[in-house]
Amino acid sequence: MKKIVIAGNWKMNMTRKETKEFMVRISSFTMDRNDIDVILFPPYTSIDSAQSFKPEWIKIGSQNLWYKDSGAFTGEISPIFLKELGVEYVLIGHSERRHILNEQDEILNLKVKSALQHDIIPIFCVGERKEENEKNIGKQVIKRQIEEGLKFINQEVILAYEPVWAIGTGRAATPDIAEEMHSYITQLTLEKPFTVKAILYGGSVNPDNISDLIAMPHIDGVLIGGASLSSDKFLKMLDIVKKRR
Ligand code: PEP
Repeated sequence: MKKIVIAGNWKMNMTRKETKEFMVRISSFTMDRNDIDVILFPPYTSIDSAQSFKPEWIKIGSQNLWYKDSGAFTGEISPIFLKELGVEYVLIGHSERRHILNEQDEILNLKVKSALQHDIIPIFCVGERKEENEKNIGKQVIKRQIEEGLKFINQEVILAYEPVWAIGTGRAATPDIAEEMHSYITQLTLEKPFTVKAILYGGSVNPDNISDLIAMPHIDGVLIGGASLSSDKFLKMLDIVKKRR
């Protein structure tokens, strides 16, 4: 059985108090499977609250980092500070950072390098926009994002395929469409110097579609936004994954 990753990106949501309440509620769940990795990505200010109240089987990640260790970078966060808080993973290249904050391939590449230098596992996100999907150039976009963003990387990374048109829209890719792209990414990365630990699907994953998505052969897990904010929905999804494998 393949290992499955269930990751929850809280974005700019969840105060410290809400984080504590979520973790306390979720602690009643028994995760007795070591072939399921569960990772949550709280906002920076809630990371220590998450670490204090989380059950042992949840790992904590950061939604971003800066690629330098210290210096004159007002408002940015150093990988050293994140390590100090016990962060094990980091999201890099999320579509909101690419398209709202205008982060380009080159800077994303520096961030991946920095994360790896500090033993933080990068979850590198790629995905085409709606208009690119309509023009049928999704694969070209993803190829560029992977080749530029992971240039000169020769360590292990996790990838997340997140079609921008499916994020926060309630319109997830069908399992077949997602599978086709995951299979393409698998082929594309086979000969690269880096190793791909897992390829996650992200974009409107919820308790109703998670089972069909993770049943696909090249989908190794999910990156969940909106539905990871509700402890009820998150628990439901964990339960589905735990029971069906
Ligand atoms: C995300 O932010 O990575 C995401 C997939 O969001 P949502 O599940 O809300 O579409």
